[in-house]
Amino acid sequence: MDKIFFIFSIWIAKFISLTISIFRLGQGSNVPGRFALSLKKDLFQHFKIKNNCKIILITGTNGKSTTCGLLSNILKSTNKKVFYNKSGANLLSGIASTFCHYSNLLGALSYDYIVLEVDEATLPKITREIKANVIAITNLFRDQLDRFGELDTTAKLIESGVNNNKDALIFLNADDPRVAFLNIENKRIYYGIATNVKRHCEEQSDHHDSLVAGSAISKTLGDCRVGANPPPRNDRETLWLSDPEEITTCPSCKAELTFTHKTLAHLGNYHCNNCNLQRPKIDFSVTRFKTDHLTTNFDINFNNSKNNLFLPMIGTFNLYNALCSISIAKTVSNATNLQIQKSFDSYSTVFGRGEKLTVNKKNAWIYLIKNPTGTTEVLKTLCNLPNARFLIAINDNYADGRDVSWLWDARFDYLRNHKKNIFVSGKRSNDIALRLKYANINPEQITINENIISSLNKCSRSMNTNETLYILPTYTVLLELQRQGICKSMPLN
Ligand SMILES: [Zn+2]
Repeated sequence: MDKIFFIFSIWIAKFISLTISIFRLGQGSNVPGRFALSLKKDLFQHFKIKNNCKIILITGTNGKSTTCGLLSNILKSTNKKVFYNKSGANLLSGIASTFCHYSNLLGALSYDYIVLEVDEATLPKITREIKANVIAITNLFRDQLDRFGELDTTAKLIESGVNNNKDALIFLNADDPRVAFLNIENKRIYYGIATNVKRHCEEQSDHHDSLVAGSAISKTLGDCRVGANPPPRNDRETLWLSDPEEITTCPSCKAELTFTHKTLAHLGNYHCNNCNLQRPKIDFSVTRFKTDHLTTNFDINFNNSKNNLFLPMIGTFNLYNALCSISIAKTVSNATNLQIQKSFDSYSTVFGRGEKLTVNKKNAWIYLIKNPTGTTEVLKTLCNLPNARFLIAINDNYADGRDVSWLWDARFDYLRNHKKNIFVSGKRSNDIALRLKYANINPEQITINENIISSLNKCSRSMNTNETLYILPTYTVLLELQRQGICKSMPLN
């Protein structure tokens, strides 16, 4: 009887998924799983998972989707069968939908690897249901505080999730002190960036010059202090380092940590002068990287070998995603460097994360924004690209986070040297316009239009053919763009 119920719930989930897909009923990535779980509460325990299949969970604030996408691509390149929740539906219901989608009609999952991005608060729930072989934690930033509460709460959720699977191998970002020193007993592998980003940034003279140029403007910003946003300082080094920082206290004694270099926000090489805590020894280490406007070239060291790779993406955050995916792939599979490189080359970005499109015959890229650190990294990466135009669209629906105060913590100051019109849109278009004003952007440069489609059309039509539009939407704006067929459809599973 138990088995019949289980199979029936899979059929129901598959039927709902098919119906949503045929009739284009919008986002249905959670609904099939929700139905299946309501019919069979212990659904996960009944799937027949192939012997030796490795289940890999990726959690953390930023980079889950891209890390999962990159890792799955690498594992597929080794001729193994892999699936992952590419819709980004990372709650229990979304993961249930994915399992039902990929299982056969009798609940068998004949795959070699299952890669899942998991919401931080969902980790304890999913590790009670399935036994993970690998769990990776990318970073911990403030994100949707109204949902998760403060960072300590998130860290405790992750710790209890890991403690449910004591045999799982844990991959930790050594550069994030909150992640590197999580209170867990499992076997750990650390990855991180050993090189000094300041030195890297000095290689990019264009970027650097404009930061220096920006310093003259920043002198006038002292009066514009709003919320938690500190006024930019007027030397290039402090500007580069004055990203939204959340944790700089020692995870052991709570004294302030000292950083010899930072890669982004509170990530970097740190030590505590009070109790001598240090960043853990890194197993997979990036020792050099250089970025142009489209790619990142980097050296990665592991097992006493130095390897050079190209990533067709930009931004330090994407370098961390690549590093995490390589660390796992090199540990759980026999992926060669050539296979990794080929899988990077053929990687098609996940929905909204650096997705390329054409709007009214103009080139455009979409970068989802959702929290201060991620947004700052995107702005830092894009602000000096030649012929760039910007459209920033902010909604405050539940999936975006109802609290938009994070806009004040994100460093929109990186746009202050931008000379062209900036279009702002979405339900909170006035809030983002105000935020840009306080980032010292001339209000006459800002065009407000709440309707995203109309804003997108006006913006793209006003552009020259040699210009590239960078669309920075929150999650539900992205869904709207998808519904209108402007960007890639989000896969259901
Ligand atoms: Zn300490």
